[in-house]
Amino acid sequence: MKKVFGVIGLGRFGSNVARTLAENGAEVIAIDNDKNRLEKLEGLITKLYQGDVTNEQTLKESGILNADVVIVSIGENIEASILVVVQLMNLGVKNIIAKAWNELHGTILEKLGVQRVVYPEKEMAKRLAHSLLIGEFIEEIPFSEDYRIYEIKSFNGLYGKSLKELDMRRRFGISVLAVKRKGEEKPIINPAGDFKIGEGDILLILGREEDIVKFSNSLKR
Ligand code: ATP
Repeated sequence: MKKVFGVIGLGRFGSNVARTLAENGAEVIAIDNDKNRLEKLEGLITKLYQGDVTNEQTLKESGILNADVVIVSIGENIEASILVVVQLMNLGVKNIIAKAWNELHGTILEKLGVQRVVYPEKEMAKRLAHSLLIGEFIEEIPFSEDYRIYEIKSFNGLYGKSLKELDMRRRFGISVLAVKRKGEEKPIINPAGDFKIGEGDILLILGREEDIVKFSNSLKR
């Protein structure tokens, strides 16, 4: 069965989430009280509903209570965001993701018990900064509060060096989890110490962001 997503608030963030989900074949129910915002998504979203989401009736009538996940994307109006989250919880919605406008808003959402709080601007800014600091950055996955998994392309200072020689685990606390080699279908999982990094290799590494930046800076390019 298709997954059903609910999106509440169609600002830049909410409408892009709704659009991307719909473009990838998901069923989306979106609510906003602004007709213009809804019109922009006409023909794309399974169900568009106009109404004030702080009103329980809107939530019930829209069908959003049956969604597998509800994304609350009301930022600036913190009061509305909190009211909606509490109502959704009272009405039995288990899986809620909410956008935070600032740290305090985020803390309140976390304390209420939403599954995930997102800070779009902060997260995007951090990602951009990392992509500038870490050479040939491809992807970043937060793993825990401190640790992240990065997918990076090998670069000049790494070519021809073995993992033993680089000594990343001891010097920087960084582990190379896997390597994808150009032209080879299967990745090399847990490469051993004598594994030499080549041009075009893609590395999956685990470490703390500041250590990965230090490691990247320590190598000549
Ligand atoms: P973004 O930064 O993602 O563009 P924004 O700052 O433009 O968001 P927000 O204030 O976060 O907008 O609100 C997002 C949307 O939520 C708006 O389209 C607004 O019409 C809608 N919205 C706000 N309050 C309510 C409400 N009580 N009921 C229904 N929709 C609401």
